[in-house]
Amino acid sequence: MKVWILLALTALAHRQVPAQNPPSAAAGSLAAREAETCSRNLKIIYESIQAYRKDHKEVPNWLSDLVPKYLADSAVLTCPVTTRTGRTQTHGLSDPKVTASYAFDFCAQEVPPELWGGSPLSMRQFKNLQMAVVGGDTPILRCYLHTPTLNVGFNGKSYESERVWENRFKQVVPLRDLSPRRLVERFAIPRADQPARAEGHLEFIGSLAREDLRSVVGIAVSPDGKFVYAVAYNAASVVVFARDEITGRLTHLQTISDRRLLQGAVRIRLSSDGRHAVAASFIPGSVPLFERNVATGRLELVNAATDGVEGPNLVIRADFCPNSPFIYAIASTPAAVVAFHLTPEGKLQFVESNQDQCFADARSLTFSPDGRSIYVINPGAGTLAVLEREEQTGKTKLKQLIADEKDGVHGLDGVSQVKCSPDGKFLYVSAGRQKGDNAIGIYRTNPNGTVALVKELFNDRDGLTRFEGGNELILTSDGLNLYALGTRSSSLLGFQRHPETGALTQDQTFVHDRYGAGPVLSGASGLALTPDGRHLYVTAELSQTISIFNRRVR
Ligand SMILES: [Zn+2]
Repeated sequence: MKVWILLALTALAHRQVPAQNPPSAAAGSLAAREAETCSRNLKIIYESIQAYRKDHKEVPNWLSDLVPKYLADSAVLTCPVTTRTGRTQTHGLSDPKVTASYAFDFCAQEVPPELWGGSPLSMRQFKNLQMAVVGGDTPILRCYLHTPTLNVGFNGKSYESERVWENRFKQVVPLRDLSPRRLVERFAIPRADQPARAEGHLEFIGSLAREDLRSVVGIAVSPDGKFVYAVAYNAASVVVFARDEITGRLTHLQTISDRRLLQGAVRIRLSSDGRHAVAASFIPGSVPLFERNVATGRLELVNAATDGVEGPNLVIRADFCPNSPFIYAIASTPAAVVAFHLTPEGKLQFVESNQDQCFADARSLTFSPDGRSIYVINPGAGTLAVLEREEQTGKTKLKQLIADEKDGVHGLDGVSQVKCSPDGKFLYVSAGRQKGDNAIGIYRTNPNGTVALVKELFNDRDGLTRFEGGNELILTSDGLNLYALGTRSSSLLGFQRHPETGALTQDQTFVHDRYGAGPVLSGASGLALTPDGRHLYVTAELSQTISIFNRRVR
């Protein structure tokens, strides 16, 4: 059964649960006193907004616009909970001039990624549209520092609600109909009112959650773009979907569960002819091989290579090498890059186990498009290894080892993924999934096969934001965009890419929508693009969910 989550599943998950131990009477009275003081603050701010409206015939852009003429004492912008704990929570809303404890929902800011996945609408436009549907109770001021949340409606009514106040109206209006996207459709707001979407911009379409996607990480699209394959390590499953090529929506076709071979499956890859698939399963240490029916998309488990990767080996990656009949896997114990030959009969034949300590704890590998080089990264050691591949035998040899804090490299601590540009000229690495730097590194490949650092982008510097726990990266086949996941920041970042210089400019950010109506990105971990470049699929490890994005292409 498929379940499209356009609804408030995560909102439900975030609903406040009563504490296990009842709070002491003293604590209870403290909470009550703080809520009472806070309500008084909210009332004063509301009254000053009304005074501002009388003069300006409009609400202020920011709460700081009230100070000092309409609000002499700016101390009322601070909730007593902030005074006591230092905490603030405004879900992506921030005043340019003052630090306020309160969310001013009618501010001039664009709808931030934290709310419904973001929108080009301003908060004020968005809230005015919500108000047109549900009326004047639509909050203008909110304090999230209490349970329940304190609100003052546009009409001046003070009331308490769950964090997703829209749920008060769920009997009358489905939650999703109060999202910016639905409101824009409903009120036929012309696209000209919104900033034009740039090439490569993503738009969230919907999500799909299933029990057999428990701890889903790996995802791949078939070469013809008609099928999508996902692996989930706790469900020990490979799940096959048919893809609607217009809408990007997925329809379930097949689930293969195998506790012995697929427990710990974190990656699935398809051969370029579409006739085979391999998975990497870290618990059994196997490389399961599937035969694939090119017409129906269905898989059949035919073979699992354990030769050379037996015992305690942690097989974390396995992939087909382009332009060759070889498959390469990373095993962590013993530390090795393992080569297999895929025979014309469809059998995996062990070739060699290239053992080197620099592969201990390795997490990801990728190939140059010509298949002559393999790049292997190791988060523990903070290294990027360049391997030379012999075309005939498939054997590999270490050519270069780049290490963190050497030769001007600083962003490889905790490096978790590596990808090559379609023209083979640049390498991109991301770091931070388990530990270390929250960074993206850009490297240039030299004609002799070595690589050299071009630039590193660190979170909250260098134009990179909301990037914590750097994980999967993907480049579009036209080389114009790169997308990256921050697992700890539950975020998806979109970049414009300069094909000649390899430079990246972050121009889109999606954050897990706690309100439950936008993208599901909690534990965001896997990315797949369709061959036509029109859809991006994102797996969320903590939510057994695949989120679907439409990508703007010419
Ligand atoms: Zn408060």
